[in-house]
Amino acid sequence: MPKLRHGSQMLLNTKTDWGEKMERLPNNGDDRQKGFCVHCGGQTESKDHAPSKVFLDLPHPKHMPSLPSCGDCNNGFSGDEEYLACFIECVVCGTSDPEQLSRDKIKRALRRNRSLRDRIERGHRQSDTVGGALIHVWQPEDERVRRVVMKLARCHAAYELNEPRLDEPEHVLVMPLVSMMDDQRDHFETAPEVNIWPEVGSRAMHRMLIADDAYASGWITVQKGRYRFLAVAEGSLMIRGVLSEYLAFEVIWE
Ligand SMILES: [Zn+2]
Repeated sequence: MPKLRHGSQMLLNTKTDWGEKMERLPNNGDDRQKGFCVHCGGQTESKDHAPSKVFLDLPHPKHMPSLPSCGDCNNGFSGDEEYLACFIECVVCGTSDPEQLSRDKIKRALRRNRSLRDRIERGHRQSDTVGGALIHVWQPEDERVRRVVMKLARCHAAYELNEPRLDEPEHVLVMPLVSMMDDQRDHFETAPEVNIWPEVGSRAMHRMLIADDAYASGWITVQKGRYRFLAVAEGSLMIRGVLSEYLAFEVIWE
């Protein structure tokens, strides 16, 4: 994973007017695809939100997608999710000082958790550029980031497409939107054309029929500026997501 750089090139995606409405859609797909932990195939002891609330601000969307998961998996992700949410906010704001961050939730998390702040700060370097500007370089803990991305991808695949995947994907990409070349960014933002319709009864099928304003150009906005994703199944299974309009990920199962 490339280092995350924060500098004057930082920009927010303003291409699309993302809606904010999240619909609660029924999943009437094949029952064999439900009833087990979407991460490990184990017992369904709890509900796991995707995305986790730490990636969103208050007030939360009314209907948060949630998936069956076992207690161990559900609890196992929360530390990594808090780390990643805090890390991204620090990169975006260029500091790990809680008082200078924008998101209230992250301010509070870093005020009460000094060791998390230290851990994030250990991946932070400042250096001078040739032109004399100061640049921040942030190195995340790759394994933690990957665990969160895989959790999100598995949840979206199961929830949207009724395609739970317990196996390892063929492709995982995690990088800041600002680090993408223009054509790479265009490719990432554009949902592939889907000729095969999703399974009858799956949520993706419902979304095709409803096409509400939370579902723009294939992307589903959970909370504007905080979290959006797209889920496509046509031959291969692809999940893309963007956290805080900063960190992009793509996971593909062939
Ligand atoms: Zn599990």
